[in-house]
Amino acid sequence: MSKKVTLLIPVYNEEKVLPELYLRLQELIGRNNGYEWEILFINDGSSDHTLEQLRRMRKDDPRVNYVNLSRNFGKEVAMLAGFDYCTGDCCVVMDADLQDPPELIDCMLEYWEQGYDDIYARRRTRGEESWLRRHLSLTFYELLQRMSKIDILPNVGDFRLLDRRCILTLRRMRERERYTKGLFSWIGYNKKGIEFDRGNRRAGRSSWSFFKLLNLAIEGITSSSTSPLRIATVSGILFATVSFLYAIYFLTKTILYGDQAAGFPTLIITILFLGGIQLLSLGVIGEYIGRIFKETKQRPAYIASDYNEEKLGYDNT
Ligand code: UDP
Ligand code: MG
Repeated sequence: MSKKVTLLIPVYNEEKVLPELYLRLQELIGRNNGYEWEILFINDGSSDHTLEQLRRMRKDDPRVNYVNLSRNFGKEVAMLAGFDYCTGDCCVVMDADLQDPPELIDCMLEYWEQGYDDIYARRRTRGEESWLRRHLSLTFYELLQRMSKIDILPNVGDFRLLDRRCILTLRRMRERERYTKGLFSWIGYNKKGIEFDRGNRRAGRSSWSFFKLLNLAIEGITSSSTSPLRIATVSGILFATVSFLYAIYFLTKTILYGDQAAGFPTLIITILFLGGIQLLSLGVIGEYIGRIFKETKQRPAYIASDYNEEKLGYDNT
């Protein structure tokens, strides 16, 4: 029996690019017809005609499967839905906008046949994006790298081929606030990087706003590392020590030379500074408490409302 490859594609308002994507995937499948193929779309609550298009595609081509989520849950969660519904022996996660060239998948399949479990694509160039976004992104990875013990590579996206055993492992990691890139690194297995030039979006707009990316960045740090808490502790110890020494100094000075009322600037600066540090530390602690709060509710990470023609109830997810 031939092996089955699943193409896992989260889509959110991608009606403009779907026809071209489908053509390119046809070419890919044509080149590799030794495999059985599944094209699994996760419709992440699109508000345009994406869902109708998926239905039409499914009608003409039984290799197309789609999961329709009940609202927009974000790409990270959409990918989890994809892992749950994927039926292949391996799975290629890719974006709908053709920024991830399907031609690279031929190469990924070769490495998969050689026994690698996780073949990821590293961008040699990043496609069109603003100077600010590129630099913020690189700074973020640098920071993340230092804070967490696992390797999260810069310029590596979600575009990768995962063996079935990686998928099975990822299915079991059901945190609701997800940073999937961190999970890919965390699970380990046999990894192989290949390089490519990232193109520009074919149509439509990137749906990541600055704040969405900032959120993802905080998510990335707090979900894969507790070092912000450690930093708060260490700076706490540091400031407490300094304050203690300072207190001794003042006490001695007062005993020896009497009480002078001067020193208002020192006082106010100290209060403001320590107040700032305290608020910051509280914020850091709050981030983690927030995560605990969300996880203890034990809600499902997403709600799937349809799988192909079938309507799903809560129990199916
Ligand atoms: N996407 C999604 N849900 C969202 C936002 C994006 O499923 O809430 C999908 C989108 O359709 C695309 C992929 O995630 O297939 C990457 O999105 P985008 O191109 O906007 O991100 P960028 O390439 O700018 O990182
Ligand atoms: Mg894109």
